[in-house]
This record gives sequence, structure tokens and C-alpha cells, in this order.
Amino acid sequence: MGFLNKLFGGASTPKDDGIYLYVRCGNCGRSLKVRVNRQNDLLPDWDSGGYTLVKEMMDDKCFRLMRAELAFDAKYNITAQSIEGGEFITREAYDASRQPPPPAATE
Ligand SMILES: [Zn+2]
Repeated sequence: MGFLNKLFGGASTPKDDGIYLYVRCGNCGRSLKVRVNRQNDLLPDWDSGGYTLVKEMMDDKCFRLMRAELAFDAKYNITAQSIEGGEFITREAYDASRQPPPPAATE
């Protein structure tokens, strides 16, 4: 155990620094999970010291384009968001939408 800790300890732990957006298509109702790369997708906002993001995405059902605009503070907290062609949903709502429907009650 001590040996492994030396090999893989501390700072080398892989970290997912992605930001996830959960949206629902306004046309067909399909839920979508979109990964945003902090390094490549976010643009510095010199006025606020944070970041802005414009993300275009489409679902895999009707393939209609949605366009989201978000603002982040310096710690990557979302401070403003708007979307055309769909709506933002919570992660819980997304997860629920991807679950198979519950089996029919047998009572
Ligand atoms: Zn759609």
C-alpha cells in the first residue's frame, strides 16, 4: 500500500475538469448532457474576471440546433445562462429522463 501510494500518490490523480450542461430540446424534448472543456471552450471575460461560453449543440433525435450562452465567475460558477431552442434542466432531471420507464405495477 505504501508502495502504491508512492507511485500514484497525491498530485498525479487524474481529475475531470469538465463542466457539464444539462439541456432539453425545445422541439422533441430529448435530454442532452454536454461536456464543456474549461481550457478550450471558455473565453476569458476581462470585465468580470470570469469566463463566457457560447455552446452550440444538438440532440440525437431531431438534430435541431440549440445555442447556449453562459457566464462564469473566476471559480467557474455559473452566473448567467440563456439558451435558444431548448431549456436548461437539472442533472437530476437529466438522469431521470435517461432511466428506463419503471415496470408497470402488478398489483
Ligand atoms: Zn430535438
